[in-house]
Amino acid sequence: MTAVSKQHDEARILPLLKAGHRVFGENRIQEAALKWPPLRAQFPDTELRLIGPLQSNKAKEAVALFDVIETVDRPKIAAALAREMAEQDRHPRLLVQVNTGEEPQKAGVLPTEADAFIEKCRTEFGLQIDGLMCIPPADDAPAPHFALLAKIAQRCGLRQLSMGMSADYALASQLGATHVRIGTGVFGVRNRR
Ligand SMILES: *Cc1c(COP(=O)(O)O)cnc(C)c1O
Repeated sequence: MTAVSKQHDEARILPLLKAGHRVFGENRIQEAALKWPPLRAQFPDTELRLIGPLQSNKAKEAVALFDVIETVDRPKIAAALAREMAEQDRHPRLLVQVNTGEEPQKAGVLPTEADAFIEKCRTEFGLQIDGLMCIPPADDAPAPHFALLAKIAQRCGLRQLSMGMSADYALASQLGATHVRIGTGVFGVRNRR
């Protein structure tokens, strides 16, 4: 389980670390870069996962900070990540985000373009892709989106599925999630912004 600690400060995160939880998700690079280095100094085996949109000009910071980047979704990002991974000799594990609801405002590769994009990541950019991630549309029943993500992963030979949040993680698990991302269910309601 990825504990989504976005918008929660160190004082809220520390008790989880002390209790032994080590996998956390953040959606903004800037926020994570401020909060996590001191926490990680105390808990070096923490796994930090980027679950928010990534701009190619932030690839350097993302590669330096995160252990897993779940939001690879276009060639420009893939190219920037490949370059930075070589430059820094740091190799975060990568997931491709799929926009299963085909929402214009949402990040992620379209389902019809996912296979070709994953192949391009492998052949053109030399990146190993470990799995897929999706955020279903807020107003849709999530099951078909989880099922679609699982289907794409299966036909592309990918094992990891990051899907399911506080409201639907049980369903996501039934449909094959290997990583559920829980914010509210762990930390309570976010109210800082
Ligand atoms: C905030 C966020 C979550 C956690 O959402 P909750 O409903 O609070 O569990 C999961 N995934 C992503 C990508 C998020 O941005």
